[in-house]
Amino acid sequence: MQELLRAFQHKVDQSVREVGVSSHCPFCSMQCAIELRVDPTLMKITGVQPIKEFPVSAGKACPKGIVAHEHSRHWERLTLPLIRKNGQLTIAAWEEALSEIVHRFQSIQTKYGCDAVSVFGGGSLTNEKAYLLGKFARIALRTRNIDYNGRYCMSSAATAMNKTFGIDRGMTIPLHDIPLAKMILIVGANVADCQPTMLPYFRQAQKNGGKIVVVDPRYTNTAKIADLHLAVRPGTDSALMNGILHVMIQENRIDHGFIEERTSGFERVKETVRSYSPERVADITGIPAEQIVQIARWYGEAETAIVYTARGIEQQAKGVQNVVSCLNLVLASGKIGKPGCGYGAITGQGNGQGGREHGQKSDQLPGYRSIENPEHRMYLASVWGVDEQEIPGKGKSAYELFQAMADGEIKGMFILASNPLTSSPDSRFVKKALAGLDTLVVVDLFLTETAKMADIVLPGSAWTEDEGTMTNLEGRVILRRASQNPPGQARLDWQILCELARRLGKKKHFAYETAEDIFEELRLASQGGRADYSGISYEKIERQKGVFWPCISDEDPGTERMFTERFAHPDGKAVFHAVEYQDSKEQPDSDFPFFLTTGRLMLHYLTGVQTRRTVSLNAKAPEPFVEMHPITANQKGVQDGDWVELRTRQGKARFRVKLTPHIRPDTLFVPIHWEYDQSANLLTSAELDPESKMPEFKICAVSFAKISSEPEDNGENHLTEGEKEHEQTKIGAGR
Ligand code: SF4
Repeated sequence: MQELLRAFQHKVDQSVREVGVSSHCPFCSMQCAIELRVDPTLMKITGVQPIKEFPVSAGKACPKGIVAHEHSRHWERLTLPLIRKNGQLTIAAWEEALSEIVHRFQSIQTKYGCDAVSVFGGGSLTNEKAYLLGKFARIALRTRNIDYNGRYCMSSAATAMNKTFGIDRGMTIPLHDIPLAKMILIVGANVADCQPTMLPYFRQAQKNGGKIVVVDPRYTNTAKIADLHLAVRPGTDSALMNGILHVMIQENRIDHGFIEERTSGFERVKETVRSYSPERVADITGIPAEQIVQIARWYGEAETAIVYTARGIEQQAKGVQNVVSCLNLVLASGKIGKPGCGYGAITGQGNGQGGREHGQKSDQLPGYRSIENPEHRMYLASVWGVDEQEIPGKGKSAYELFQAMADGEIKGMFILASNPLTSSPDSRFVKKALAGLDTLVVVDLFLTETAKMADIVLPGSAWTEDEGTMTNLEGRVILRRASQNPPGQARLDWQILCELARRLGKKKHFAYETAEDIFEELRLASQGGRADYSGISYEKIERQKGVFWPCISDEDPGTERMFTERFAHPDGKAVFHAVEYQDSKEQPDSDFPFFLTTGRLMLHYLTGVQTRRTVSLNAKAPEPFVEMHPITANQKGVQDGDWVELRTRQGKARFRVKLTPHIRPDTLFVPIHWEYDQSANLLTSAELDPESKMPEFKICAVSFAKISSEPEDNGENHLTEGEKEHEQTKIGAGR
């Protein structure tokens, strides 16, 4: 351990015998820089200090960042492989577990074809692991069916940006441009809770005279800082954007020169928004007509302006259309490609940006290349040293994988560091689909709800143990150094993939000694692609404190601000796309009279697997709840703290009531961070966006009824006998 740490040139404080390891918090896309204080003798992280010199977070971290390492040594950490025997997960040797995986997957593929085995990844993986997982699926397992939980996160914004700009980098400008903006429109994003250290940038913009408008059905902590909050009716965002653009055109607050020189398709959009008068839009959205006019004037008049979106409008079955309607606004104003002007899709997961660029998406090869483009396939084949024909074609998207399982088409799944049973919509359906598999393999830190269903579980690595790069919400590639080794017999995720690939007969394609070796290959694989990392090295990242992609050579410092001269479509122009508003599929009716929406809390991350095992975070947010307006609660005689049962067309779940005036009376809200019978996704709709395949997490119709008492513990969360054996036997987990 000492040698490893020295090799990374960390500062050693001899007086306290601690080592400072430079890293980044994994719990959101800000990737705040933190120094982990490590006691090399005890192999233990003893403290965390935010790093002032990192320009993004500048010495700030939210409560999650300060304790982000704690779960890595939680007593429930998996440290030994498990194999299901006689219905129970039982301790196994690595040799047995790895042989069993290879045997089972090869048997499935012999009988049903290569695509009958699928792979599922995650947006928290490092770029190296995301890249390697895509290569593992296509070269070692030879399956087309790989996708990841980022499909549930960024896919609508990514599709919209690719259509409009010809490239998908979440933010077109760096965060330090925010204080330059005189108008900021935030649509369906709650940065105060999801990216807390981003909030000071907005406050600085206000101090500089900028206005902030927040569009959200809830009066969130972000809405509280806004100059104007629009509590929009769920699912009507594109009508609102069309209405704003209607007024801007009517009042001639658009940039004719920019539209003429740098875009195409405006006339059709102009024709479409003609019918979106403020009065009509007010009827659809519930936003007063005068406020729609006000926003159009603020946005149109402002010398500089930025539009931000996030999951609120993206996690809908019309998520792409919603984002496109925002981008139409940006293009018509001409406020993009210059300081203080642009668009940003605020990435949620730690590596939501990089995770979608390097090949764990079903339709994509590294460098944001298309798996259906013959030239792109040829290039990757040359990098990987295989024949182009050996690279499978486009596979199924995340939720479609579970539909294919239910249809009997997919028989096996390999999951790396993801918990799709909890994170997928309509999770009862997903549970049935997973239960029907011949073989489910999960690599993770804990026995998640998904891992508990597995046939084989492998103990993988925590963020503190894996070296690698992440790409933050700006498109800035940063480097996380390892600060400790995996406990017990747990192994580094990338080494598990390489070992399985070796056993599948592909050793020569996975001969890496270090994570940096993988990154060096990723650089080459991305060269010439849309997300070009070829000029980025570990050394340059540390020297520059992050490097923005595209970065095409050693001399190139990277690209902070996109589209200063041209967009990424072949003609250099951005493309308008007309959006006609349509109601969401599920509307409140007599059976289900309210909207249900879901989202994150500040103290938890994703399905809560890590943050619920962090004492200080879980103590402050120990259980889920349903948020509702007092007017709504009164209709059923419900009071704060009462228990209610929520029912949707997908399922039912019970939650304690939290009354708040900060939500529309026609809308209920449930956070997403709990598993089993506390999972919000027992209720959500699996309607998919036709283009991005994003599920409709944010909107379904719901009813509720008061129940007399707290639901009984159904025992699902308890350890089986085999799992207890694992708890008693595991080695070195630092309990
Ligand atoms: S959760 Fe996000 S804002 Fe909080 S410390 Fe981590 S990276 Fe920073």
